[in-house]
Amino acid sequence: MASPSHPDIERVLWTEDDILGRVAELASQISLDFEGGSPPLVVVGVATGAFLFLADIVKRISLPLRVDFVRVESYGSGTESSGAPRISSDLKLDVEGSRVLVVEDIVDTGHTLSALIAHLRSKGAVSVSVCTFLDKPARRKVRLELVGEGKFYRGFECPDCFVVGYGMDFNELYRNLPYVGVLKPKLYS
Ligand code: 5GP
Ligand code: MG
Repeated sequence: MASPSHPDIERVLWTEDDILGRVAELASQISLDFEGGSPPLVVVGVATGAFLFLADIVKRISLPLRVDFVRVESYGSGTESSGAPRISSDLKLDVEGSRVLVVEDIVDTGHTLSALIAHLRSKGAVSVSVCTFLDKPARRKVRLELVGEGKFYRGFECPDCFVVGYGMDFNELYRNLPYVGVLKPKLYS
């Protein structure tokens, strides 16, 4: 495991190489699972945290697809989920009759994704799948109900600690770190 290269990072959990290796695996699995042209595939990134993961994964998915973003506010500036997420910026594309693949940075309690899946269902998506870079199953409070033939993909299982990097922030910082690390708790406690 690489040593932290930023003074606010306690330890690195996944290096850039670890990440890109896993992203390539996920992208091939998704390319296989979604093969066959219709209905069309729409990849929906959850801004801002998923922006790097989304960019890396769509480059490696060998299928025609459309890309769009939503913004869901579930966190203030702290490290705890509010439990009442709100879609604060909606899709530009019409997903009625489409297969949707939601690309998320991390699933924690599950509140954010549950709200988003319900929203996509109400817009008429024929299936909603989820590809989350990190998953913290130990902290789940709500079970994710996928839509139709929807599948669940995850990059890595994450220990129960607050992580930053590879798109993920604390107070909007650290998103540009190319690896994922545990933030020193003294910075937020
Ligand atoms: P949930 O609604 O599942 O509790 O929270 C999901 C959202 O909380 C994620 O999309 C992510 O933005 C944020 N989140 C959860 N855990 C972490 C973490 O360890 N680090 C960061 N930076 N964000 C997190
Ligand atoms: Mg997020």
